[in-house]
Amino acid sequence: MLEKDIEKVFYSKEQLNERVTALGAQISADYAGKNPLVVGVLKGAVPFLADLTRAINIHLEMDFMDVSSYGSATVSSGEVRILKDLDTNVEGRHIILVEDIIDSGRTLKYLVDMLKHRKAASVKIVTMLDKPEGRVVEMEADYVGFDVPNEFVVGYGLDYAESYRNLPYIGVLKPEIYENA
Ligand code: 5GP
Repeated sequence: MLEKDIEKVFYSKEQLNERVTALGAQISADYAGKNPLVVGVLKGAVPFLADLTRAINIHLEMDFMDVSSYGSATVSSGEVRILKDLDTNVEGRHIILVEDIIDSGRTLKYLVDMLKHRKAASVKIVTMLDKPEGRVVEMEADYVGFDVPNEFVVGYGLDYAESYRNLPYIGVLKPEIYENA
């Protein structure tokens, strides 16, 4: 059972659901008539994107990118490599970039610059979680689910060594999980 590995819960399933519903309503109003391209960053953004898009009540399209930032499991180094590019031509499109969490901001900075370079009409960022204390480059999301303190969190898409992405809430692992790894 996954629950036994969790030290504390930051945001419950109900809290996430309520916030995602509100974000969806706000995005539906802001993008009415614009047919935005919702871009998910694999793999962490998948649960959030799946819930968020079902809370958006206007026409939209979806595409996905997979990027890796070099570094250890818990610290990103800033160098970003594209593992899977978009299938869609973004020129003239309104892009809503969906992220799981913004920490240093490096991954997002790279992606936003790339989308602008490819002549997107607009690029906005929606992130489920924001860790403002972790910021290394200047980067703010346009829509934020919740702020989290500078701790390593898992669940709702966020992994530790590829596990825990399917936890329906966001929490912190017990220290012994790392010690036994
Ligand atoms: P950034 O480039 O903003 O430093 O890193 C963003 C990426 O680092 C996220 O998409 C996520 O994959 C990973 N990351 C940052 N903080 C956490 C965290 O607390 N938990 C997990 N599981 N991943 C994190």
